[in-house]
Amino acid sequence: MPGPGPPGADILRPRHVLAEDSLRAFVTALPKAELHVHLEGSIPPELALRLAARHGVRLPGDEAGAQGVREAFRFVDFGRFIRVYLALSRCLQTVDDLRDVVVALAQRLRAQGVVHAEVTFTPMTHAVRGVSEEVIMEGLMQGRELAATIGVSILYVLDIVRSYADQAEPTLGFALRLRQRLAGGVAGLGLAGPEGGDHPLGPMVDVFARARAAGLRSLPHAGEFLGASSVRAAIDRLGADRIGHGVRAIEEPSLIEELARRQIPLEVCPSSNVALGVFPDLARHPLPQLIAAGVAVSLATDDPALFGVDLVDEYLRCASQFGWSVDRLRALAQASLRHASVDEDTRRSWLAAAAAVPDPE
Ligand SMILES: [Zn+2]
Repeated sequence: MPGPGPPGADILRPRHVLAEDSLRAFVTALPKAELHVHLEGSIPPELALRLAARHGVRLPGDEAGAQGVREAFRFVDFGRFIRVYLALSRCLQTVDDLRDVVVALAQRLRAQGVVHAEVTFTPMTHAVRGVSEEVIMEGLMQGRELAATIGVSILYVLDIVRSYADQAEPTLGFALRLRQRLAGGVAGLGLAGPEGGDHPLGPMVDVFARARAAGLRSLPHAGEFLGASSVRAAIDRLGADRIGHGVRAIEEPSLIEELARRQIPLEVCPSSNVALGVFPDLARHPLPQLIAAGVAVSLATDDPALFGVDLVDEYLRCASQFGWSVDRLRALAQASLRHASVDEDTRRSWLAAAAAVPDPE
């Protein structure tokens, strides 16, 4: 609570609040793309509890209701993050479950002015639990159709977990069949999970090559828990078209130069990076240096329900921390549209709409 202010503070404070509100309204009005969001990590506690009750699944903290689940989402390390993530995954068992979480995500995105989302989903996590491919595909398809009626275009990124190399091939197969079923609707193949020596990229290289040959984009995570070498491997060995995170590329100036020269976009998720300890706080996040070096970046949330953040918050937090101008915010929204996996006519119309949003008062 703020203490009593100096004379005139009661006049100044409403002005300040108004400025914040008008900036939020501006960022919300900008058409934006959310290019890095995991479906399983987008399920808010209230919806997670409803799904868990449908199936008798226990969630961490559920004895204290939604607030308890929300508190269980405060991560102390990556291991705890994965445990919560897997508990949420166990709530997705039927067509209705999957449809409902896609629609709930689309509704929240629409309220933030997001016109397009590339939603990462890890099909094999669910398939190995016994959820059939038919159920998963039908749920994703119904969710996507309803999202379109809400005004959010969704493409799926089918994601492989690095530590399960045996799931790479089935994930590619799933991605290709889903694309056929949805007549498009799939942006590409993703790769997430622990980076590092225990989980070499070797088994993924051929799968990503065949994915690219089949017209899927290569959209791996890299440079989150390992440094620049992991980003370089994603580019050189997986042919990355865009990189999830990539922020630790900052550790190698020659790589930053290459990313800028080749304009390989990074999906930067500052709140996720701070929550998972990639950087100690937002002040020490390298986003300003990446932008200054000319690297193509967009802002994203990664797992908005788990990190208690939405995309508009992410823009506003960074604007406040890094002293961004209105022009910078608009340019970042436009960058997200430029980096999206959509046709040029669609992109042009969204960019024009973003250019037409008036500056805040
Ligand atoms: Zn991610």
